[in-house]
Amino acid sequence: MNGGTVMACIDAAYASLKEHTDEIALLDQQIGDGDHIFNLLRGLEALRSMRAEIEAEAFGPSLELAAAKVLSTVGGSAGPLFFSLLSGMSKAAVAQAMDVAGFARIYAAGVGAVGLRGKSGVGSKTMMDVLIPVAERFDALAAAGVPAREVLGALPAVAEQGMLATRDMIATKGRASFLGERSRGHIDPGARSSQLMIEAVCAQLAQ
Ligand code: ADP
Ligand code: MG
Ligand code: MG
Repeated sequence: MNGGTVMACIDAAYASLKEHTDEIALLDQQIGDGDHIFNLLRGLEALRSMRAEIEAEAFGPSLELAAAKVLSTVGGSAGPLFFSLLSGMSKAAVAQAMDVAGFARIYAAGVGAVGLRGKSGVGSKTMMDVLIPVAERFDALAAAGVPAREVLGALPAVAEQGMLATRDMIATKGRASFLGERSRGHIDPGARSSQLMIEAVCAQLAQ
């Protein structure tokens, strides 16, 4: 785990989001302002343009570098939220071992930082409906001593379940909350993009 691993994960996330551009654009048109996927692609393209710098760093510092770039390029709600995720992970990485339990704690710290930033948890129809269940399962699997490869195989299904659950929720955070009851029946764009990125990162790390 180092800047090279982080860059490979960024590439994998980018490829998946690029493939689902139209779908995610439509989701944010339905309950937001339509810019979510373009905010994310802009950020990921900016990260890919600093490949050499990210690849040269150790794991924690590479995440901090990426976080700063995300904050200055992504915009919208997603910018500060993904900054918090990466920055929270980076800060936690200092004190953790690079094993399954360590990564579960690093990821959980990132998700905790998103929750503080967005004042959100499960059930508000946001990316947190994906990020939190994944953090909880990650923690449970790590505590049970499940090997890395099995953890990486298990988490995408948890992310998918969380993403699908947003369809029936009424949004109480972010732009979609302005729609109230009319937000029901649509998957949250941030939940979908987070789920796709988690799936892509798990597949990348399992290689
Ligand atoms: P904007 O709504 O400002 O245009 P984006 O379209 O980039 O921002 O991102 C929208 C996504 O951000 C939503 O689909 C939702 O998942 C997520 N989101 C919005 N507000 C919050 C919040 N307070 N906490 C967590 N996630 C949020
Ligand atoms: Mg938007
Ligand atoms: Mg916007």
